[in-house]
Amino acid sequence: MLEALRDELWELHLELPKNDLVRWTGGNVSARDPETGYVIIKPSGIRYERLKPADMIVLDLEGNVIEGDLKPSSDTASHLYIYRQRPDVGGIVHTHSPYATAFAALGKPIPVYLTAMGDEFGGPIPCGEFALIGSEAIGQVVVESIGDSCAVLLKSHGVFTIGADAEAAVKAAVMTEDVAKTVWLALQIGKPEELEADDIAQLHHRYTHVYGQ
Ligand code: 13P
Ligand code: ZN
Repeated sequence: MLEALRDELWELHLELPKNDLVRWTGGNVSARDPETGYVIIKPSGIRYERLKPADMIVLDLEGNVIEGDLKPSSDTASHLYIYRQRPDVGGIVHTHSPYATAFAALGKPIPVYLTAMGDEFGGPIPCGEFALIGSEAIGQVVVESIGDSCAVLLKSHGVFTIGADAEAAVKAAVMTEDVAKTVWLALQIGKPEELEADDIAQLHHRYTHVYGQ
């Protein structure tokens, strides 16, 4: 079932290693099917290059497996918690991308030093408290801490991003690592200045309402 969404989710998983956001089996992507409300997610602990569309697991929002033979991602309960709390979310990504996760290791949010951050995030990338892997605890921290952003760091763990669909969430994960890297580089050579709140609001509005075709 949900063959087109399975294929799309499989292709999006391949973007994570391609963009240097994950190593080996870390990280995961899920997508919500708008019609059935079911969620598709990656199986746990399978290397990205060995994943197949048929390996993806379909679940309902309560965690009942609708289709799939493999054990779903260890972050499944957290993804489902986020989908239950945020009807606007259609896709979720988790990575341990190194520059962003360095900020997470220190429990530090990333302030808005760059137009790219105003554009994509409309504010700082917050950092939520530590939570153990395996229950919906991570999902609770994500929902509590993410605010209006599409990305949040999890203390001592990594990155969660959300989007209207899975592709938007993957894009947010790529942009999170990109700005984290640039900010990290800037911090090596000086003290960057934070953008003004009004400029951030204008950047975000232009990017989300005017930018592109
Ligand atoms: P899974 O392989 O179970 O998705 O776990 C990866 C991970 O990053 C856990 O937080
Ligand atoms: Zn993880």
